[in-house]
Amino acid sequence: MTKKRSLLGHYPLVVTDLDGTLLDRESYSFAAALPALEELQRRGIPLILNSSKTATEMLELQRALGIQTPFIAENGAGLYRVTATGDSQLWHSFAAQREVVLGHLCELRDEHQYRFRGFADMSPVEISACTGLTPAQAVAAAARAFSEPLQWQDTAERLHLFMQQITDAGLYAVQGGRFLTVTGPCNKGAALKALLQELGVLDSAYVVALGDSPNDIELLQSADVAVVIRSVHSEPLQVEGPARVIRSQAEGPSGWQEVMQTLLAEPALQTERL
Ligand SMILES: [Mg+2]
Repeated sequence: MTKKRSLLGHYPLVVTDLDGTLLDRESYSFAAALPALEELQRRGIPLILNSSKTATEMLELQRALGIQTPFIAENGAGLYRVTATGDSQLWHSFAAQREVVLGHLCELRDEHQYRFRGFADMSPVEISACTGLTPAQAVAAAARAFSEPLQWQDTAERLHLFMQQITDAGLYAVQGGRFLTVTGPCNKGAALKALLQELGVLDSAYVVALGDSPNDIELLQSADVAVVIRSVHSEPLQVEGPARVIRSQAEGPSGWQEVMQTLLAEPALQTERL
């Protein structure tokens, strides 16, 4: 991956969540963010995708975006790189395999009769019905290595108890835009730190991170500039740590474009021309 120095001497990187952030929550389109995306590419600023999606889904999107940068899948569980032939390859994993997670979930459900449905309980048709993904995309979404997205169908009170039991089992549950995702303890921020270390830019990177949901908090808090994309589906995120926190007015890719357009005008994201 090529990195370019900014006029201020550091390596700017843009790290983004996908659903509800770079991608429209309903249509999954990034069209509204195209002007900023193209400008990043023109300046040679790497765009790193960091999502709860699977590697299969993310590689597809990387192709659509025309990028070959490393990416982080399944809420920080897996760091992948793209090979010379354009395939994805697991580089580092930060969580237990999905089978371990499913084993714990089955035990909890048997013992407490919880009402929830996970991807493991659904056919691709059902996944496509509750996500709006096409059947082919639903198959890619079901190809999970580390995590299990759940639709909670029980009471809020029992959710509280369930969350406690998940923690006691050494697992981690986080609410994304659409699902409660259960994995081994990992997060998007820690995985990003590992990537920066691999790239040798842990201290010299200038990270702009964008996200919209509670599963983006650690990512946002590990950035130099945290961009909170407006979402009507979650409470306003409390982000502590970064020197700057910017909140978009618009939702999804329109909000992405709105904030990135402002940041691209600043010296921190100006790179020496090719
Ligand atoms: Mg999101």
